[in-house]
Amino acid sequence: MRVKFWGTRGMISSPRLETAIFGGNTTCIQVLHKDNLIIVDSGFGITNLGDTLFDRIIGNKEKLKIHIFFTHFHWDHIQGLPFFKPIYFDSTTMHLYSPAKSDIMLENLNVLFDGSYSPFESLMSMQAKINLHQLTGQVDIDGLKVEFQAVDHGNDGANIVYNEAFAFKFTNEEDASVVIITDHEAKPSHVNNALIKFAKNCDILVHDAQYTETEYIQHMGWGHSSVNQALANATKIDAGLTVLTHHAPNRNDRDLQTLHRTLLMMKKFKNLNFEFAREDTVYDVAKVKKEKSAS
Ligand SMILES: [Zn+2]
Ligand SMILES: [Zn+2]
Repeated sequence: MRVKFWGTRGMISSPRLETAIFGGNTTCIQVLHKDNLIIVDSGFGITNLGDTLFDRIIGNKEKLKIHIFFTHFHWDHIQGLPFFKPIYFDSTTMHLYSPAKSDIMLENLNVLFDGSYSPFESLMSMQAKINLHQLTGQVDIDGLKVEFQAVDHGNDGANIVYNEAFAFKFTNEEDASVVIITDHEAKPSHVNNALIKFAKNCDILVHDAQYTETEYIQHMGWGHSSVNQALANATKIDAGLTVLTHHAPNRNDRDLQTLHRTLLMMKKFKNLNFEFAREDTVYDVAKVKKEKSAS
């Protein structure tokens, strides 16, 4: 199993020369397991992933089966879907999953296709066959177990039906696991405690770290973690590798590199294996697992 980042940015895209290393596209993460196409969120990063599949559809006449898991339906996690090329082919079957009810999922995604923001009629009238699945427990995709857990995305007191957000855990037959927590405020809470338990001892932990400590003070309750909060969670989880993501749009490559160096010098994180997510980068779960057991 491997994990590939197609989009690492939170809130809005930020494609600039100064963000070329860590990436400017909004959230999209691919979980590579055998030859399955498994994706978490369809931020703008999914458009580049779609382009790589175009040849397989046109050249090889492949009938693609694509699984997309939605953490939630904020704009930066769905906006790339109308620009994902496989959706224009009737040879494509797309399975869309969320712990939200199917009608809520349809309502949230259909906004992108109902003529308001694009020249279409509806999601269900696109050429690809679309199947919506409400997750009520774990699912299995070709031997890969997928589970979910609620996160704290600033939804206290807000409309829980529309604002709920979730983390996903992928576990393969060798018991190697990846946990993806894209939008979560890791302040002390029963939700955070449950999340730590859910992710405990995973091999790769992907964790929201949108804010610096200074920024976090101004954004408490907004549903995102500071880098220190994310790394404190990673310490408790004892992940093999922690990949910090959902970078603030204004954070350029140099800022992230400086921040990384500063964090590496902090005594409390000195035994932690972590880095900031880079677009187009692939992490091998088996390699991380091997390194962890050797250390
Ligand atoms: Zn987000
Ligand atoms: Zn969000």
